[in-house]
Formats: sequence, C-alpha cells, structure tokens
Amino acid sequence: MKITLDADRCCAAGQCVLIAPEVFDQRDEDGVVVLLDAEPPAGQHDAVREAAAVCPAAVIEVRA
Ligand code: SF4
Repeated sequence: MKITLDADRCCAAGQCVLIAPEVFDQRDEDGVVVLLDAEPPAGQHDAVREAAAVCPAAVIEVRA
C-alpha cells in the first residue's frame, strides 16, 4: 500500500488521525495532516482505507 495526500486541500478535520493514529498526525500550529508512514504495514491497511473514505476533503489517496 502506498499513500499520497494533498495537504494543501486538507481542512484539518482530524478524522484520519482518529482512525489511523500510527499513519496520520496533525501539525500543532494549524491541524493540517502530516503523513507519518507512506507505506504502512498490512495491519494498518483497513484503517487507512477507512480514513481515506471518511476524509471530508478527499485528500488521501491510497494505491494497492
Ligand atoms: S481527514 Fe482529511 S481533511 Fe481531515 S485532517 Fe485528515 S486529511 Fe485533513
């Protein structure tokens, strides 16, 4: 799995961080998403897909 994201369009809602805190974090100053692991292990894949699905700005892109 490979994750890319467009942080410029992130609306800092934080859903991804709640769902997959080992893969996503938020910048302290403005809450914009930070990608911690662009190629997470298999155990994280379901959470990452869910995070991508619920992201209100649809900025998380997942490739198998
Ligand atoms: S869920 Fe989407 S909009 Fe919200 S912080 Fe994560 S990447 Fe940004």
